[in-house]
Amino acid sequence: MPITQVLQPLHNPFMIASFVLGCVVGSFCNVCISRWAAGESVIRPRSRCPKCLNAIAWYDNIPLLSWLALGAKCRHCGQPISWKYPLVEGLTGALFMAVFRRFGFDIATPIYMALCAGLVIVTFQDLADWTIPNEITLPGILAGLGVSMLAMAQPESMLRVADPIDSLDGIAAGCFIICLMDSVVVLLLRKPGMGFGDVKLLAMLGAFLGWRGVIGTLLIGSLIGSVFGVAMILYFRRRQDAETHETSDQPANLQDAPIDPVAAAALGACTVYLAARCFYSLTNEDMMPSELRRILIIAAAIVTAFALIVSGISLSLYARQRKTASGKHPSRIAEHLEGGAQEEDLEITLQGHYLPFGPYLAAGGILFLFFGPELYQWYTATL
Ligand SMILES: [Zn+2]
Repeated sequence: MPITQVLQPLHNPFMIASFVLGCVVGSFCNVCISRWAAGESVIRPRSRCPKCLNAIAWYDNIPLLSWLALGAKCRHCGQPISWKYPLVEGLTGALFMAVFRRFGFDIATPIYMALCAGLVIVTFQDLADWTIPNEITLPGILAGLGVSMLAMAQPESMLRVADPIDSLDGIAAGCFIICLMDSVVVLLLRKPGMGFGDVKLLAMLGAFLGWRGVIGTLLIGSLIGSVFGVAMILYFRRRQDAETHETSDQPANLQDAPIDPVAAAALGACTVYLAARCFYSLTNEDMMPSELRRILIIAAAIVTAFALIVSGISLSLYARQRKTASGKHPSRIAEHLEGGAQEEDLEITLQGHYLPFGPYLAAGGILFLFFGPELYQWYTATL
């Protein structure tokens, strides 16, 4: 008898256990969100009230329950505790329960629970201070690649990625799409686009979900973004105006809309990789009518040429920017450094101009994780 059938009677207790585990992990997510933003260690000092700095006892640190029992107020100073703490805990708990309900007793379940916890941190940190933590995305890309090897060894598992090639294609596709969008926004609209954090985030999702997952995540994320986008933009514009005074001046020239040379170079590299992969797949595809194949090869060539041109223009403009920046136009970066600001402050200030796309990408990735195959079936059925 397979192990899943033996464990079947334990399904409901495991649902509850998943929720509890999620709440506990969510509590740790809260620590990561508040401390990584401040550049602190997540392990060393004990949990303490951010207002009065008194250490929080274990019985006041129970996820969800303590917040309710304390009436959303600190035991020591009586200051209100943000509703974001129980929200993160409850949300992580709900996601863990949903992952268990979807994937059951499968190797995919603990992996996707960890992915969901990472995406919760990404979402709330991006909302809080406009940064996407490298602590999640960079190890996440490697972890996704590792999972793809596991998927190749366990083809009967419910993992959403097939093999390491699928994972690599996902990483390259994620990098390619965001870098291209970002570079086009910088070049045409002369304002900062999405930032390299989103590139790494979509690359991580690509590593876990494959290139189909990247496209699905982007489509779902953009859909959510267009629904909530207007409200979000209004909210953030108001908050920004209240918090900082320098946000009202839109960057008017490329001097203020810095080109990220890493993004431009990554765009070029991903373009070459994807072009080679497309060409290889299309020439080895026997099922496809030759007419359709010819059209696809031409389309891929046009996209490749466009992306390489964008990458090239960005890199050469960056070189020119560097030259003129040292001259009469003291950039914002130089001002900050002269003012003695730390590098972390600088990053956050610059990020303040970026579009907050991370939460939409995270939500799109989670929805694709749960409903990807169904959405794909529905899409191909309606074609
Ligand atoms: Zn306190």
